[in-house]
Amino acid sequence: MEKIELNHIIFQKVKEAATSLGLDTYVVGGYVRDQLIGRKSKDIDFVCVGSGIELARKVASLLSPNLKVNFFKTYGTAQFVWEGWELEFVGARKESYRKDSRNPLIEEGSLTDDQNRRDFTINTLAASVNVDDFGKIIDPFNGIEDLKNGIIQTPLNPDITFSDDPLRMMRAIRFASQLNFTVAEPTLKAIERNKERIGIITQERITTELNKIILAKKPSIGFLLLDQTGLLPFIFQELSELKGVDYFKNQGHKDNFYHTLQVLDNLSENTEHLWLRWSAILHDIGKPKSKRFEEGNGWTFHGHEVIGERMTQNIFKKLKLPLNQEMKYVQKLVRLHLRPIPIARDEISDSAIRRLLFDAGDDIDDLMMLCEADITSKNESKVKRILANFQIVRTKLREIEEKDHIRNFEPPISGELIMQAFDLKPCKEIGIIKNQIKDAILDGDIPNELNAAQKLMFQLGEKMGLKKVV
Ligand code: ATP
Ligand code: MG
Repeated sequence: MEKIELNHIIFQKVKEAATSLGLDTYVVGGYVRDQLIGRKSKDIDFVCVGSGIELARKVASLLSPNLKVNFFKTYGTAQFVWEGWELEFVGARKESYRKDSRNPLIEEGSLTDDQNRRDFTINTLAASVNVDDFGKIIDPFNGIEDLKNGIIQTPLNPDITFSDDPLRMMRAIRFASQLNFTVAEPTLKAIERNKERIGIITQERITTELNKIILAKKPSIGFLLLDQTGLLPFIFQELSELKGVDYFKNQGHKDNFYHTLQVLDNLSENTEHLWLRWSAILHDIGKPKSKRFEEGNGWTFHGHEVIGERMTQNIFKKLKLPLNQEMKYVQKLVRLHLRPIPIARDEISDSAIRRLLFDAGDDIDDLMMLCEADITSKNESKVKRILANFQIVRTKLREIEEKDHIRNFEPPISGELIMQAFDLKPCKEIGIIKNQIKDAILDGDIPNELNAAQKLMFQLGEKMGLKKVV
């Protein structure tokens, strides 16, 4: 008999509550799965034969006197948070879906009914919290076996499972990515057949799964499955358009879909930062729109970073990703992702370094990480050479930053100061002077100091025929 350890005080309290209410109760789904494979989880789902809301209230009162329990009467579910644990309680239920409605009919049911309605065999596992067989695992679909073999498959007919709730197709691929599991062939084929039904799922729920795929250790696993099953164009058209190679006069370019996935995997070895990972996904997204064949030059993608920056906004809107600083950050990295390359290749001028520091600001280290991940050549000595060059760029960046403090640089002369100096109303001369002072500092013509900047301001004003206030 398979058992799991349920040592946490929470399980003792649930046992106590279940006993006093006379409710058969089980831990179910993700927690049991994660426990068996030694994965951390912060949410625990309980199912009882009877009222989940009543059980939740009892458990809450045993844990602490003033816990707030949230409940949803229509679904018979209740939830609360205790010391960082998110606990959910539901009465065992049976679900039946009808073709004409997205929401299932829900009736009370047995533990088995409840296990039947779950998405994958590895998620159907239940462990008893009852006195008689505390910790015993109930595994009607051989979920433990699948967990050992690393297999994702539905407990029932996959076509029905996916058609009933198409989000499960995303979840299958998400679990495959997070756990590095294989999706069983019949389950995979059913996703292919049902892919169009993803259209009835809200964007927010799809995006939640997509972000989990992106945060997996090796995100390409999920994207390759999305591509292979045909889901990708339905959920992320622009990314699927990176796929393919054009030929002209026997010359092809690299396949930007696989290149992008390689960059994403490379980067993911060094960071778990979601938005930095997003910048890898989008760095070349403007390539299909900028693709040209130029006589003598071969395939070019001029301006793809600017097109990419613009597309980023549309994609963030469409995918319901946050439109504030997260999006601006990704846009910035997409726009700047080519900038360190010529600096690494050529003689490095201080001025180019200062400009890069000024434009990237605090995101300069992230940008360098992205650029390094962007080297996907198979030629090892070439990769080594470029990486060494980037190392020089990094050293230079550090030196110049220590000397000139450009990273959070605010030009020492403000518009107001210029207005006062020449007694001006708002006008275009102010902008011109400000810009020239900024350029002079970035080019190293004058130091990043107020006195030097003021002196230049008066010189420029004089040249423009402005009168200095005395
Ligand atoms: P994680 O918490 O890591 O996202 P999880 O498997 O715990 O993974 P939850 O969304 O917390 O996922 O759901 C808890 C359990 O509820 C799952 O293990 C599964 O048994 C069931 N479940 C969740 N969503 C669905 C669904 N769309 N269809 C069927 N069963 C589901
Ligand atoms: Mg969970």
